[in-house]
Amino acid sequence: MLNISELLLCPLTYNRSDHLLQPLWNHLLVHHRHLISSPLFPVLLAFSSYVIFSTPFAVMDLLGERVSLFHKFKIQPGKRPTLRMMARSFRMSLFNHVFFVLPSVVISMFILPLPALPQEAPALREVFVDGLALLLLFDTQYYIWHVVHHKHVQLYHYIHAIHHEYSAPFSWSTEQLSIPELMTVGLWSNQDPILLKCHPLTTWCITVLSIWMSVEDHIGYDLPWGLNRLVPFDLLGGAPAHDMHHQRPNRNYAPFFSHWDRIFGTAVPLRKKR
Ligand SMILES: [Zn+2]
Ligand SMILES: [Zn+2]
Repeated sequence: MLNISELLLCPLTYNRSDHLLQPLWNHLLVHHRHLISSPLFPVLLAFSSYVIFSTPFAVMDLLGERVSLFHKFKIQPGKRPTLRMMARSFRMSLFNHVFFVLPSVVISMFILPLPALPQEAPALREVFVDGLALLLLFDTQYYIWHVVHHKHVQLYHYIHAIHHEYSAPFSWSTEQLSIPELMTVGLWSNQDPILLKCHPLTTWCITVLSIWMSVEDHIGYDLPWGLNRLVPFDLLGGAPAHDMHHQRPNRNYAPFFSHWDRIFGTAVPLRKKR
């Protein structure tokens, strides 16, 4: 069976006869090279994904019962975020990105060599396999970090508690994180693709997907078309599992998948508060 250490030591070789993504990659190289070769691009991609994915759910929250099509899926219908709460979460994320994430990327531009962009696009299978490896690695790292920061009183109080300000999460609260938590997550997002020798296009696809999954964890709606419903065998926790974590913080620690919580007995199903 292939394990993570084998992935690190012997990167998988792929049949590059799958050229489906080559036209897209050529277009990016020819027309957007300045943008995609900038070390600021991944930050821009992640932050804009957070804003784009969060906005529709904020509108749904503000409309509430007026859009019953969505409201009937609300996990805690009695708890609705206010515009003020949404603005506070967004302001915190914007502040952290402007004053901590961007400066650290700018400093790294002077220390580290600029990443080279390959001429060849990744094969579709490569995007899928490497992308899954990236998600599994991040999920494991965050599971361990998350358990430690809930068990240790000081670590919880000074680093993670700010994310638990609300027992009913909403889309903008996804990135209501302390600076150490945001920087730790940013470091993994940056270093894991280097460790696993991922193609930049794979990394960017997983950046967007993981931001979507993180926002979906916090939307507060158990939508029938949520990823946790579409992927079989309850492999993904999704909004029901993470909403439960905000209601009962000593359960459902994993951000995406459910296997670590099931193995260590920290998985608990959603209990709707009606
Ligand atoms: Zn959360
Ligand atoms: Zn937590």
